[in-house]
Amino acid sequence: MSSDNDIELKVVHTTCPYCGVGCGITAHVDQEQHRLQIQGDHCHPANFGRLCSKGSSLADTIELKSRLLEPTVYGRECSWSEALDMVADSFTSTIKQYGPDAVAIYGSGQLLTEDYYVANKLMKGFIGSGNMDTNSRLCMSSVVAGYKRAFGADTVPGCYDDYEQAEMIVLIGSNTAWCHPVSFQRIRAAKENNPDLKIVVIDPRRTASCELADLHLPIAIGSDTILFNSLLNYLNQQDALDQQYIRQHTEGWAETLISAQTSSSDSARVAEHCRLRPQDVELFFNWFASHKKVMSLFSQGINQSSSGTDKVNSIINCHLATGSIGKPGMGPFSLTGQPNAMGGREVGGLAHQLAAHMDFSNSKDIERVARFWNTHTIARKPGYAAVDLFNAIHDGKVKAIWIMGTNPVVSLPNADKVKQALQRCDFVVVSDCISETDTTALAHVKLPALGWSEKDGTVTNSERRISRQRALFEPAGSAKPDWWIVTQVARRMGYEHAFHYTRSVEIFREHAALSGYENNPQQQVRDFDISAFAEISQHDYDHLQPTQWPVNHEYPEGLQRLFADGHFFTPSGKAQFIAITPRRPVNLPNQDYPLILNTGRIRDQWHTMTRTALAANLNQHKPEPFVEIHPLDAQQYQLMHNTLALIESTWGKMMARVQLTDTQQQGTLFVPMHWTEQYASHGRIGALVNPVVDPISNQPESKHTPVRIKTYPAAWYGFILSRHPLKFKQPEYLIKVTGEQFYRYEMAGEEVPETWQAWTRHVLCNTHHETPQWQEYIDPSMGTYRAARILDNQLESIFFVAPTIDLPERSWLTGLFVKPVLKKDERLALLIGKPPLGTQDIGPIVCSCFNVGEKTIQAAIKEKELKSHQEIGLCLKAGTNCGSCIPEIKALL
Ligand code: SF4
Repeated sequence: MSSDNDIELKVVHTTCPYCGVGCGITAHVDQEQHRLQIQGDHCHPANFGRLCSKGSSLADTIELKSRLLEPTVYGRECSWSEALDMVADSFTSTIKQYGPDAVAIYGSGQLLTEDYYVANKLMKGFIGSGNMDTNSRLCMSSVVAGYKRAFGADTVPGCYDDYEQAEMIVLIGSNTAWCHPVSFQRIRAAKENNPDLKIVVIDPRRTASCELADLHLPIAIGSDTILFNSLLNYLNQQDALDQQYIRQHTEGWAETLISAQTSSSDSARVAEHCRLRPQDVELFFNWFASHKKVMSLFSQGINQSSSGTDKVNSIINCHLATGSIGKPGMGPFSLTGQPNAMGGREVGGLAHQLAAHMDFSNSKDIERVARFWNTHTIARKPGYAAVDLFNAIHDGKVKAIWIMGTNPVVSLPNADKVKQALQRCDFVVVSDCISETDTTALAHVKLPALGWSEKDGTVTNSERRISRQRALFEPAGSAKPDWWIVTQVARRMGYEHAFHYTRSVEIFREHAALSGYENNPQQQVRDFDISAFAEISQHDYDHLQPTQWPVNHEYPEGLQRLFADGHFFTPSGKAQFIAITPRRPVNLPNQDYPLILNTGRIRDQWHTMTRTALAANLNQHKPEPFVEIHPLDAQQYQLMHNTLALIESTWGKMMARVQLTDTQQQGTLFVPMHWTEQYASHGRIGALVNPVVDPISNQPESKHTPVRIKTYPAAWYGFILSRHPLKFKQPEYLIKVTGEQFYRYEMAGEEVPETWQAWTRHVLCNTHHETPQWQEYIDPSMGTYRAARILDNQLESIFFVAPTIDLPERSWLTGLFVKPVLKKDERLALLIGKPPLGTQDIGPIVCSCFNVGEKTIQAAIKEKELKSHQEIGLCLKAGTNCGSCIPEIKALL
């Protein structure tokens, strides 16, 4: 393939760094110009060429402006050796004075398996503390605990191919359409090929995923265990059990059934508890009972709960009871959030784990890992899990923390306390590829890590498939691999003999060898076994094809499904039913905080936006933090659509744009999790979220926080669009959005400046030395002011302010920044804020891939009488690339 200049582009196969689908990418790399073209890898079994909007936009996120390029110590750039010495010396002296449990590492599902392995080895194997936890605690530790209880191992039984073979797919607490879009596309294709495939969505919200649903159960938040206990009961009553499977391969059935019978009665009562229609519950139960090939896909709506582990086991119980596990088209399947959440689990990234699926609950595991690592200082008990870890920092018990590739000041619950904890902490190290985050702002030492396009190692996706992330570019600045940084610190702390690595393949070999160490395949001691890679050559590692573990002597090519033989990794070899007694969420709504706050992701942003917010097209779909509220609740709290609201909980507060929607249940709010202080003055939802955790998994209850809401009493609303970034005194409400050749600032405040002219000149005039032409309009009686600056017949900046939200739509105005010159009628229309007659405003962006707006789609539907998303695709291309916007196109139809 050639670039514009006919330069031969290097083709590299790598893996998307965002969600747990783990899509393969074919990258065409122009190393000289530091440019990329991205395509889905047609040969990768996770996606077969598909990518979602986030994956498709990766080329726009590799810019160097935002990168951390040099190590810094107390704000001063320094050499690597100075920074590494400081980290090693500070950790060593803290351990000497206060013991090993006074230091900690907090990692991330963004780390490669090799990075994770050495970090965990350092902390648990040599420093001798269990204090290594990871942000994966926030998204899937409940399923780790649930699988372990049921199967004796943290094992996803099935694979993505099962989507195409299932007769029924149940999506539980998962907006797959937005959070795992390529999996959703595969499910959509499966449904198109087999219209008999039943799809049930169980979710309190009517999400984009309901587009495919034959049945949507808008369950009351937190009542999932009642529903699945009741399903178990129903399966028993209807004689829909696989009695032979239960007898031969499971234990604990009798107690579990009694528990299910005690906590659930007829479907009418269950429907009442779960706030569902009895006939819908009946239908779901009937479908589950009458189909053998049932897949239950679940995600954060199940895991992020104070009873998350029980929810997982209540689902697994139903699959064990019907024997629908380990065979094609069936099984309980957890969709993991992060690209390498699974890799982190394999190497022991969670504080209760050791490595290679061994943990602190088994003394034999501890001795085995100690033998393998040849260490006598191995930790012997679990460390602090994420929420407790930051509490321990706050309380001064942990005095030095090393945060790797994550942003806990935004993503953890009770995030203001996390911020305080880091402000109080004696020594905070952050290794990251991004320079300015809410967390790096509090670091004493910042260490520049490689970005996605420079990393070289492995990741594991939701279906246990190990894939290579390969380097596309040389490291930016002085950035180094995370494993290298850890290794250098470990050597300085005196552990040279155990941290001799010079290449990532050496770590991968050791990791693979540990997985097979004292792991007799005949006795099936541990399921995680990739010992076939223990002596992998550099060449074979470089060319490693995506493979599902186990990969050992018995399965040299990997294995699609586990447990087909009915053998599990419990002491008896049998799967365990877990008797579930449903529990209510810990903090219930009350007089002061009468609403339930639910949190989640949006389609085009990833986690705390450090990378996706760099891609202009990903910022257009949902540019501001928003709160979704049912219209009747909005009426009760006197909230108007598109105004601003203040949301408060016991723990903190935030501001968000009000969106009225009947997809939201009465009494509940939904707010996305992504915004940080880098992009929003008061957009950190983590500040409000309940720090209660599941007692088994320690996963926080991020889906259920009692809150109250009221209108933000703005005296004015305004926005600026500017060709250059602006610096100005922050009004109370400020949102920063990067667009295509422009920066957008959404604002509101309670105090009105003395004159808007003076304010505007002060804010806009410091960006350019040349004198622009001004257009201005002022209506003092209405409190409105509009100003535009034009330089060389191009729009330089434009500002609108009004006492209400009645401001022009931004889409036409933002489109003017990519125009080489403004036409006369466009100049005349600037301060009206509407396109000249005969020009169409595209409206809010629906299709990010082809920049197609809502108004364009509506006009095409009307004028060309389009009847399907396929027809719209043919006409406008919208929805024909990643397909993430198809649910919205269907809604417009
Ligand atoms: Fe990346 Fe999207 Fe695939 Fe997830 S679904 S791995 S975000 S391309």
